[in-house]
Amino acid sequence: MAYEPIWNQDPSKLNKMELWKLEKDGLDVIRTIIEEYAHKGYDSIPEDDMNRFKWAGVYEQKPKDGHFMMRVRINSGVMTSDQAREMAAIAKQYGRDLVDVTTRQAIQFHWLRVEDLPDIFNRLEKVGLYSYEACGDCPRTIVGNPLADIDKDELIDTKDLVNQVNDFFLMNRDFSNLPRKYKMSISSNIYNSGHAEIQCLAFTPATKVIDGQEVIGFHVWVGGGLSAKPHLAKQMDMFVTPEEVLKVAVGVTTVYRDHGYREKRHHARLKFLVADWGVEKFREEVIKVIGEMPTKGDDKTVGWQAAYFDGVHPQKQEGLSYIGLSLPVGRITADELFDLARISDQYGKGTLRATVSQNLIVSDIPNEKIDEVLKEQVFERLTPNPKHFMSRTVSCTGNEFCNLAVVETKARAVSVAEYLDEHVQLDEEVRIHFIGCPNACGQKHIADIGLQGALIKTPEGMVDAFDIAVGGILGPGAQFNTTLKGRVKGDNVGPVLAQLIHFFKENRNNGESFNEF
Ligand code: SF4
Repeated sequence: MAYEPIWNQDPSKLNKMELWKLEKDGLDVIRTIIEEYAHKGYDSIPEDDMNRFKWAGVYEQKPKDGHFMMRVRINSGVMTSDQAREMAAIAKQYGRDLVDVTTRQAIQFHWLRVEDLPDIFNRLEKVGLYSYEACGDCPRTIVGNPLADIDKDELIDTKDLVNQVNDFFLMNRDFSNLPRKYKMSISSNIYNSGHAEIQCLAFTPATKVIDGQEVIGFHVWVGGGLSAKPHLAKQMDMFVTPEEVLKVAVGVTTVYRDHGYREKRHHARLKFLVADWGVEKFREEVIKVIGEMPTKGDDKTVGWQAAYFDGVHPQKQEGLSYIGLSLPVGRITADELFDLARISDQYGKGTLRATVSQNLIVSDIPNEKIDEVLKEQVFERLTPNPKHFMSRTVSCTGNEFCNLAVVETKARAVSVAEYLDEHVQLDEEVRIHFIGCPNACGQKHIADIGLQGALIKTPEGMVDAFDIAVGGILGPGAQFNTTLKGRVKGDNVGPVLAQLIHFFKENRNNGESFNEF
């Protein structure tokens, strides 16, 4: 049944997806999947509801033959061993043993059938997990500090805050029809573990003296995002205490819901509204919703570690350490996830942590147990001491499963990283990101070397190729990378990158890093 829209826009200017959303809210598809499509099968699903599957966190997988992929929201990337075990069991039973860690700290399955979905929804819910709204025009998985509550470099533990904001927005029909996807991060890590500048809305660590007392809180960034037209988020002139984070998130999301563009899908993200209005006007509109707020305090972000944690590191808690593992391009097997869950129970406190760099962390290991833990066989492949280039290579799903992909990415990324590890010696890590189309799920724009898939014509026909961009960085001095001239055939990417890195080694000035070059 159609319902009254909560925004004011001329219906004749709404795109097709908007009209579908007015006919039936995206969230309603969850019930239809459970009650109807799971019984009647893949062929019974009409086009409009197939598009609404995203609100269930489910996408059709390539080549559209009845298989689906699903994303599961993991708040801040922090999951219990029971949750990890259930996801491993689901991957084993329905997902051909495949588990991907995404660049939003989510867990992704493949090869699911619509008949499997009710059981999967049910089993996830029993361990407190949801795929709902991990995709779709709604607030998606909230990124946070994967080290929340064990981090020496955070001002406050943000785990509960992320949970609070997640719980408010998840399945909330006041916010289930936004103009487009909507991405938030909340982190108090001083090295920007939430990748604030590429979020629609981000909270970063700050302090402010109020009534003579130094208060720990957040600064607020709005309007970031990647894809074909990337924008760095702008900081609003606002200081937010932890108690007011949810209020501000509601205010910003309300302004986006009611004023965001709904005419063209490719021009509907919050970044376009913020760019057109300017951040001052955007702040004024937020204030109209939530009331006056204090102006900015002192920024506490000091740099960017790109959310890499490989190796063994001391925690905030005396005597405990965490082990940062490297997952080649974020992909593991169900058995490996079972193993990590067991290890986290056996040696730690039953917690695993996913990072936006597509890796996992096992935390709370007593220091005296570290040597013993490191002998576990699973750490031979998922090593805390990865090879140089493999450790910093990120990849989106690519055309193995993604219908929007132009080229294959994950296998290519692994072969390029292996080539570089064999042929190039370098004293600093170079972050290499692969994406299979301009949508940029693999966050190509923020990489030292970003590769975007394309096709080129050769005498043998069309073949995979990549555009190469260099110099992306976040944190203070954030900038997207710059695309170089020319397009490189997929098979030549390894040797070309090796040449590029050699050129950098030979020509850089003292201590110059790759993105300063
Ligand atoms: Fe698919 Fe493109 Fe996203 Fe890669 S970047 S997963 S190809 S939509």
